[in-house]
Amino acid sequence: MALLRPEDYMIEIGPMGPIGEGQALILRVNRNCPWNRCMFCPVYKGKRFSPRSVDEIKGDIDAVHRIWDLLNTASWEIGLNGKIQREVLQEVMLSHPEIYGEYPINFTQEQLCALQSLNNVANWLFYGATRVFLQDANALVMNPKKLIEVLKYLRQTFPTVEVVACYARSKTCEMRSFEEMRELKDAGLSWCFVGIESGCDEVLDYMRKGVTRKEHIKGGQKVMVSGLNMAAFVMPGLSGNNKELADKHISDTIIVLNDVQPTEIRVRSLAILECAPLYERWEAGEFTAPSEDQMVEELRLLIEELTFDCTIETLQMTNPLFTIKGRLSQKRQEMLEMIAWYQGLSPLEKADFLLHRYVDDGYLACVKSWGKYDSYLKALIEDANLSLEKGSPEAAEKVGRAIFAIKSKGVP
Ligand code: SF4
Repeated sequence: MALLRPEDYMIEIGPMGPIGEGQALILRVNRNCPWNRCMFCPVYKGKRFSPRSVDEIKGDIDAVHRIWDLLNTASWEIGLNGKIQREVLQEVMLSHPEIYGEYPINFTQEQLCALQSLNNVANWLFYGATRVFLQDANALVMNPKKLIEVLKYLRQTFPTVEVVACYARSKTCEMRSFEEMRELKDAGLSWCFVGIESGCDEVLDYMRKGVTRKEHIKGGQKVMVSGLNMAAFVMPGLSGNNKELADKHISDTIIVLNDVQPTEIRVRSLAILECAPLYERWEAGEFTAPSEDQMVEELRLLIEELTFDCTIETLQMTNPLFTIKGRLSQKRQEMLEMIAWYQGLSPLEKADFLLHRYVDDGYLACVKSWGKYDSYLKALIEDANLSLEKGSPEAAEKVGRAIFAIKSKGVP
């Protein structure tokens, strides 16, 4: 029998898995971002976009199938009747040192990649092998005929797959014909996650989003009319701390959303990340950071002024209020009450709530796990805590500074 090789059990995975897709198989259809100019986004900076061929992607799908076989065989061999649990992974690793090496003692880079692929596929099988996410930043930029071929091959290889999602730019959606979009849907694409961020042309232009409000609307409508689901990502705070522009940012964003009527709205408040170009503008004093209060107010306007029914969620930790999720028709009142509760707090109570929310609810733990909890950040948080305890008039400002610094380290 021929020796099994790690390269036959490896799939390529890009840097960013989207929030909420932890159960999905990650399948990379192209590398990095073909636009890559947005000021607030550091994810693919310094990396060049490149397409992947249909053969390469099909090769990954075949590798997933081989990994599935290994896991399934091992599960039956140890009496778990096809169920995927930790013991199954261990069994696969131990019985195939030619693929996985002697982890964690002795393994090659290729064997490590094979191990990461094994984890990805095992996690996917554990959750029923129903969801697939196509990486990277804009899967729809792939030639539609080629993408259709990939989707068909994926569905045919894994009939368990029910949902296939990808990121897509509005501009790319707008450039596709209705027919192409429908064919993509018929071939198995289910969701497009579209970074709207703002509907305001001034904000989009400053942030180098490379798209206008009109294009957002046309692109979004194309997705929805084709029968695909769309998650629209919007970004409170993107106008910076400029009242007039902030009002326009949010009212124009509401116009886009009401015109497109996406399936879901995902709120992702701005964090000015150290590694993003926007940080330099902020350091130079050209861009003023929005306050947490401003972003909560923008969220309130959004929830209040949407005229159609959809799901809305604020589950990303950059949002001051990050536990909102539900259908507008059922939960609008509850959501507005939560916001009204926050807005009714005194400045000191707000500062206290916000500091604990960012320090104790998981954000800071992530910063620590990235190795980014430095002495400067530690001192800022201690200082903010101290002035809160004393009820100092500077407390709110110091808390604001500490929160800004926590958020600048990255997005959990
Ligand atoms: S299009 Fe998306 S991934 Fe690309 S730079 Fe902009 S925000 Fe980042």
